[in-house]
Amino acid sequence: MKEFDIAIIGGGPAGYVTAIKAGQSGKSVVCIDNSQMLGGTCLNVGCIPSKALLNITDKYSEMSSHELLNKFGLKCDNVTFSLDQMMSYKNQTISDLDKGIKGLFKKNKVEYIAGKGSFLNQNTVEVIKSDGNTEQISAKNIIISTGSVPASLPNIHIDEKRIVSSTGALSLQTVPKNMVVIGAGVIGLEMGSIWSRLGSKVTIIEYTDSVLGGSDTDISSEIQKILTKQGMSFIMSAQVTGVDEISVHYKKDGKDLSIADVDIVLVAVGRKANTNGLGLEKIGLQTNNKGQIDVDKQFKTAISNVYAIGDVIQGPMLAHKASEEGIALIEILCGKNVHINYNTIPNIVYTKPEIAIIGKTEKQLESENINYKVGKFKFTGNSRAKAIGETAGFVKILVDAKTDEILGAAIINNVAGEMIHEIGVAMEFRAASEDIARTSHAHPTMSEAIKEAMLAAHDKPIHS
Ligand SMILES: Cc1cc2nc3c(=O)[nH]c(=O)nc-3n(C[C@H](O)[C@H](O)[C@H](O)COP(=O)(O)OP(=O)(O)OC[C@H]3O[C@@H](n4cnc5c(N)ncnc54)[C@H](O)[C@@H]3O)c2cc1C
Repeated sequence: MKEFDIAIIGGGPAGYVTAIKAGQSGKSVVCIDNSQMLGGTCLNVGCIPSKALLNITDKYSEMSSHELLNKFGLKCDNVTFSLDQMMSYKNQTISDLDKGIKGLFKKNKVEYIAGKGSFLNQNTVEVIKSDGNTEQISAKNIIISTGSVPASLPNIHIDEKRIVSSTGALSLQTVPKNMVVIGAGVIGLEMGSIWSRLGSKVTIIEYTDSVLGGSDTDISSEIQKILTKQGMSFIMSAQVTGVDEISVHYKKDGKDLSIADVDIVLVAVGRKANTNGLGLEKIGLQTNNKGQIDVDKQFKTAISNVYAIGDVIQGPMLAHKASEEGIALIEILCGKNVHINYNTIPNIVYTKPEIAIIGKTEKQLESENINYKVGKFKFTGNSRAKAIGETAGFVKILVDAKTDEILGAAIINNVAGEMIHEIGVAMEFRAASEDIARTSHAHPTMSEAIKEAMLAAHDKPIHS
């Protein structure tokens, strides 16, 4: 039996990054993943394929809608697309990045075993490989990073053909005429955008009264308005009660209603921790009432040498959160005293425009009785935004009313996901809005809107 310092079960952004960091730190390490492709949900059926398709369909909708191009004096007639080629591009991107991870494994002496891992005891994992052969490995420390799988509703069975999860929605072979998305969270809005841009009539049915869980009310109402203008329909405060061969049934305001002739139903009601077949019972480890593995601040489970990170534990289901946990864990195992500041983990929604949120929201500050001030600046007052025709959205900064420390921010604009990190760095250094307001921002850039929002928080913005 091969012996390692560290065995990692699951090769997603939690597991594969942990494996590379362990290799870099001089540990002998094996990463077991039950797929031939590394990168987990994120690379294969999540972050990367969705962003590939969002980018292509954004270009297509810009070229075919004419609105912006006409303003610029550009003509782009008879724009067509090949769904096959889009999907090939997406698949090629996945395969290139998978090769990249495998190369990094080699470089950092990480052993990779393709197969399903399960505990035999707290130091031994059995791997069932795709050819049916088994292998046992032994390790001083074992890390569980088995991620998450799509959740569904009690009476709806996902068949990945007509009733699909995000996995099926990323590989449809034809553009559906009529698509119903259950859930107006990040995945619902991103997938809805992709297919709506290609011509589907997309209707999103949401249980609550606001999209994106209402994390920031200004952002939620703004993006719902913009997506509605782009052609998506929203049925809010409605409960889906069932799906049959033709229709989606839902209850709203006490009435039973249906949408007929639905060719694809996307169930986007969230994801759940994946511990299926891990053999946790063999080591006496139980999951909590959400199916997650409980860990302490050092990612240690109730079993002294077994750790867990990523989507399988609590916290936001984000690839970069998963990877940060893996890096921190290896540093902890190497004797360092590190921690993760979960407050500065950004959350991005890759709709058009993008949404980026970091730190506390107004709701959280109110519930924590923290007095705060808001600094807001609209992109209509930003000259770069005007020059490139991307004036939708705003920057909103929340600062402590007494100390001026930046407590949170939300940006909605076409490059919000790239802009938010300036605020993340500022928050890590516990900067005040005045610090950023006094920092020179190149002109003309979208980032000047951040400076203006900071000015709005502690003094007065110039361009509004
Ligand atoms: C459509 C979609 C879009 C997303 N977009 C983004 C985004 O833009 N940005 C972002 O930050 N996050 C995004 N996410 C979330 C992100 O993908 C996850 O948060 C991230 O993948 C979690 O990483 P992980 O390593 O914990 O788990 P996973 O990526 O789920 O990886 C777990 C791995 O473990 C393997 N495994 C499971 N059980 C076993 C076993 N017993 N033996 C061996 N291997 C096993 C699985 O096959 C998988 O490869 C998206 C998710 C979806 C579904």
